Amino acid sequence: LIVIPTSRERVGDTAYDVLVLLNDVSEWKRLERMRSEFVANVSHELKTPIAAIRGFAETLLDGDVDAETQQSFLRTIYDESNRMSNLVTDLLELSKLEGAEHLIQPGRVVLQEIVEQAVHRLRPEAEKHQVTLEAEPSGDLTVWGSAERLLQVFLNLLSNAIYYTPSGGKVTVWTDVLVDRVKVHVTDTGIGIPEADQERVFERFYRVDRARSRASGGTGLGLAIVKHIINAHGGQVGVSSEVGRGSDFWFTLSRLEGALQEVQS
Ligand code: ADP
Repeated sequence: LIVIPTSRERVGDTAYDVLVLLNDVSEWKRLERMRSEFVANVSHELKTPIAAIRGFAETLLDGDVDAETQQSFLRTIYDESNRMSNLVTDLLELSKLEGAEHLIQPGRVVLQEIVEQAVHRLRPEAEKHQVTLEAEPSGDLTVWGSAERLLQVFLNLLSNAIYYTPSGGKVTVWTDVLVDRVKVHVTDTGIGIPEADQERVFERFYRVDRARSRASGGTGLGLAIVKHIINAHGGQVGVSSEVGRGSDFWFTLSRLEGALQEVQS
């Protein structure tokens, strides 16, 4: 809002004080555009599975399908309803994260324990894709944050890495310990991301290959959630990648020991 000082104008016998108010609406317009784009995206993302479910259910209701086709239609209906359920879960998650600046119930988190939990949970998925999953020991690194949220960060990054890595490839979690921070890497030997897309993959609903993401049951929100969680911890996220060679997703967190050492010294 810009207020230009008053000036005195005379119309006929009467003198008026003139006050000019200039209100910059560009930021408001930008937010409004983002909001309506988001609603359009969500609607589109929900419409696609609904259309598939309706179409297949209609054909089944017509009754003129053999047992094998019936099974495959039911499988699609099941997969599509799973996708909708994932989408709603991720949307709720994002809106919770956007609503609260602070982290819910933060505490002292031993990074190694979180990595182990995530790797344990995703080991079957990695085996199914024939991808080697390795976590290099990171010592007893501790950070201040939410164990639940950080687990989610690892689950999202690792499940992407596994999915976007062809069989025979490798996914590694490793850490780069700096004085006051730790840089955590999730590196894969997968398909990689073109340079032009690297900045944008953290945006909501941005996908390099829509069909491939769909086939994974992905929502296009996983990395946006990762970014929100890490930013809420005061850290940063990024990716470096080369098409055909693989990707290195990284994020930083403040080290508790580092902070304590600094206070002591
Ligand atoms: P999705 O549900 O589509 O995986 P994400 O937000 O997790 O959504 O990721 C956004 C996009 O970033 C993906 O659709 C994919 O194109 C790309 N991507 C994410 N992780 C990787 C990876 N490890 N290797 C290659 N591409 C990736």
